[in-house]
Amino acid sequence: MIALHNINKTYHNGAPLHVLKGIDLSIDKGEFVSIMGASGSGKSTLLNILGILDTYDTGDFYLNGLLIKNLSEARAAGLRNRMIGFIFQSFNLISFKNAMENVALPLFYQGMSRRKRNQQALEYLDKLGLRDWAKHMPSELSGGQKQRVAIARALISRPQVILADEPTGALDSQTSREVIQILRDVNKSDRMTMIIVTHERGVADATDKIIRIKDGVIEAIEPGKGVIAHVESMK
Ligand code: ADP
Ligand code: MG
Repeated sequence: MIALHNINKTYHNGAPLHVLKGIDLSIDKGEFVSIMGASGSGKSTLLNILGILDTYDTGDFYLNGLLIKNLSEARAAGLRNRMIGFIFQSFNLISFKNAMENVALPLFYQGMSRRKRNQQALEYLDKLGLRDWAKHMPSELSGGQKQRVAIARALISRPQVILADEPTGALDSQTSREVIQILRDVNKSDRMTMIIVTHERGVADATDKIIRIKDGVIEAIEPGKGVIAHVESMK
């Protein structure tokens, strides 16, 4: 479902910085993979390309057989909205909207009526054990609850793939385990492809495949353990 051929990316803010150096990668539907590497190795840049949030200079990127190249911003946004769900370390919830409204947001962009989208948002909050928190603002939620709201928001448009950039980076180890367990469950039950950037060993171990990136090059691809054991955390 995802195929990258010889992807190169250079940033030109100041001295040119060649961040991705010939990335070749393919990920099948339903895979649960992690991307590991030191800070600055190009993980977020790679994820942003996969999420059609950023462009690349040379190479080819196919998503579901569709060449993602030279797209207009409108076309990119449309594909993003339909095909991709994002989860971020800092949750990226809208602070002046409650949990339900945050979850419903992708459906607003699809033009769905308020009643319908709020109803669906409540269903997703319910699935994630947050129904009672629907009217609460992000500032009233714990980190784990905020990330569950963000997961519900990522899932509500029924994307083909979930891209998560350090989703447990701001969570304690117990909450990290819970969040990874949720992602694993969704991966299993919906055959949802999941790509998780992390530098936590325990998170990578929970996935089926670990892609190691170093200085913009894929250094190794290893099998993960596929089990959620101990998630070491910075917190
Ligand atoms: P990682 O997520 O692995 O920490 P990134 O992909 O965020 O790495 O960044 C890789 C390198 O590219 C870093 O040196 C970073 O400073 C640089 N970089 C990231 N985004 C930009 C940008 N928009 N403009 C210029 N340099 C950037
Ligand atoms: Mg990063």
